[in-house]
Amino acid sequence: MVSKEMWALGANRSVIRDLFEYGLRQAAVVGPENVFDYSLGNPSIPSPPQVNDAVRAILADTDSVTVHGYTPAIGDFATRKAIADDLNQRYAAGVRPENLFICCGAAPGLIAVFRALAATPQAEFIAIAPYFPEYKPFVDCAGGKLTVVPADTEHFQINLDALAERITPNTQAVIVNSPNNPAGTVYTAETLTALGKLLDSRAAQYGHPIYILADEPYRELVYGGVEVPFIPNLYRNTIVCYSYSKSLSLPGERIGYLYVPDGAQDSAELYAAIAGAARAGGHVCAPSLWQKVIARCAGLRPDLAAYDRNRRTLQSALTAMGYRMASPDGAFYLFIQAPGGDDVAFSEKAKAKNLLVVPGTGFGCPGWFRICYCVSPEMIQRSLPAFQALIGK
Ligand code: PLP
Repeated sequence: MVSKEMWALGANRSVIRDLFEYGLRQAAVVGPENVFDYSLGNPSIPSPPQVNDAVRAILADTDSVTVHGYTPAIGDFATRKAIADDLNQRYAAGVRPENLFICCGAAPGLIAVFRALAATPQAEFIAIAPYFPEYKPFVDCAGGKLTVVPADTEHFQINLDALAERITPNTQAVIVNSPNNPAGTVYTAETLTALGKLLDSRAAQYGHPIYILADEPYRELVYGGVEVPFIPNLYRNTIVCYSYSKSLSLPGERIGYLYVPDGAQDSAELYAAIAGAARAGGHVCAPSLWQKVIARCAGLRPDLAAYDRNRRTLQSALTAMGYRMASPDGAFYLFIQAPGGDDVAFSEKAKAKNLLVVPGTGFGCPGWFRICYCVSPEMIQRSLPAFQALIGK
């Protein structure tokens, strides 16, 4: 007999994938230049050239058995050492290679943490809207329950009063995604410090830690000099989940890491439980070649000029038309209020003009829609009349 839950997950395709595939079909009908696809968060800038140079050098210099062989389950020491050195240089964070677990991108890292912390069938995890929709199936699969804090649609920071109301004795962790998908906002140090204080006081009340799970695939993607606070330096009970999918434009290679700081409560047990959860999920030994690339490239940063130009073009053009949006300081998304208030209806109307935008409802934030600006500047220019027609005037 097939699991109903797994069947539903596999059979009901995501709205984003649906839109993306619709765009491909539609391109064959009306021509690719007449489809304005802002649906999928697929990086559009190339990896820094040093990445491909490293691949070539590793293949040339290292014997094939080693390049393609198993590494330790938690990842090569050299990879973990390179990441630790980079984090220490940037954040004076006291990271040791032993605090790091190399994973196949952020998604399996998040799942390992949820499974490691789902200590009882009542375990709860809190997401802050707008949030990455995959958190729900990840938490469900780990046997936990996802609770959602409604969005602060004024500033897209964290509505701490609403969050406080949702913490219970079963709360294990609060997921913090900054820079945020889909809002593009960066949570300030002030917001995060206040969140840490709240969690500390509730942890003391309940007698167990409440962790922040910092999901940070967009950490390096910020514009205009905005700082992304390193959350373990503000709140000790933080677990960091990082991915190179977006920062080095490597989403298909599946490489990232988890960081469990020494200062986190029950750090050693937590790390072991994460390793155990990854083992139980068959998620060990991230791709060996890409671990070796990261050992050489952990200190690289992306050239964001192309994203920044797109962001500024869209922000100024759409604002001038009368659209209202969240402050687009990071990631590569704009989150925009849907004219008329109904995001699903707006997305349908846009689709009729071959403009593909993602309704905010799936991110827990109805009334808004997301566009991903990993696109060509020419497509942006061609799409502007459709945006104008949809808002009227
Ligand atoms: N978390 C967030 C907020 C994301 O936006 C994504 C991907 O888009 C992920 C996690 C998953 O990243 P990865 O491709 O590294 O698994």
